[in-house]
Amino acid sequence: MKADILTIFPGFFTGPLDHGITRRACELGLAKIEVHDLRRFTHDRHRTVDDRPFGGGEGMVLKPEPIFECLEPLGLASREQRLAGTAKQNVILLSAQGERFTQKVAAELAGLDRMVLICGRYEGVDERVADFLADRELSIGDYVLSGGELGAAVIIEAVMRLLPGAVGNEASTRQESFTGHREAGQGKAGELAENAAADSTCGSGGLLDYPHYTRPADFRGMPVPEVLLNGDHQEIRRWRREQALKKTLRNRPDLLEGAELGAEDAKILTRIRASKG
Ligand code: SAM
Repeated sequence: MKADILTIFPGFFTGPLDHGITRRACELGLAKIEVHDLRRFTHDRHRTVDDRPFGGGEGMVLKPEPIFECLEPLGLASREQRLAGTAKQNVILLSAQGERFTQKVAAELAGLDRMVLICGRYEGVDERVADFLADRELSIGDYVLSGGELGAAVIIEAVMRLLPGAVGNEASTRQESFTGHREAGQGKAGELAENAAADSTCGSGGLLDYPHYTRPADFRGMPVPEVLLNGDHQEIRRWRREQALKKTLRNRPDLLEGAELGAEDAKILTRIRASKG
């Protein structure tokens, strides 16, 4: 997977991408990340990347020329091929107005050979970038950031950890929160996610993850739940599933709609709901 980041703040990425799994994926040759400074594609003395908005209004807008000129020499397939899926590449514009970035989207992106992330700034990016250059707009959440750089780092980290071989214990990425959701994405990572509920004892099936504990068994009078210490794996599996259902019902009831729920899950949910009165 090759990832290109287009930004006016290239220095921003020194740090966030140099740690953990993202670094490991690059060191193992599973991924390559290149950061491109948009100011290198300006033609004036002041290296201007922004201008006032047509029609008036607040703030400045990121100009289209540096973005088009930076992207064009990258040797991507045509936009038509990318949109048709004949090229496994995506040009992504980070935008608060974009489609929500989710684990499902991360799985789709992990099946690509290449993604380009365009980071906006100021009041946003000239709309012709969204209309004629980018394949999709992605938002990392319903809030407004000052720039797309944090979003790009979030997307890269979420995607890189899904690349086969990036995480030491691959099973751990199959049993995480949101994974195995009924709408799991296509492609390699999507298949991986979909298999999770079937082949893992604790695949989340689209629920939030179950709670994790480690030593000490009793920390300042806060004991680890007894069930985890008795070595009965069936009982542990049942308990974890119940906890995942409880937590999902409490924190993210919206996820239950798309989750892979069995008859046993339905019974547990009825019991939890009844106990809440
Ligand atoms: N005027 C825009 C609006 O109201 O939607 C906000 C522009 S924001 C200040 C500047 C840039 O930050 C955007 O072009 C985008 O690249 C990035 N950005 C802000 N919020 C974001 C989010 N939730 N997800 C992804 N990118 C975001």
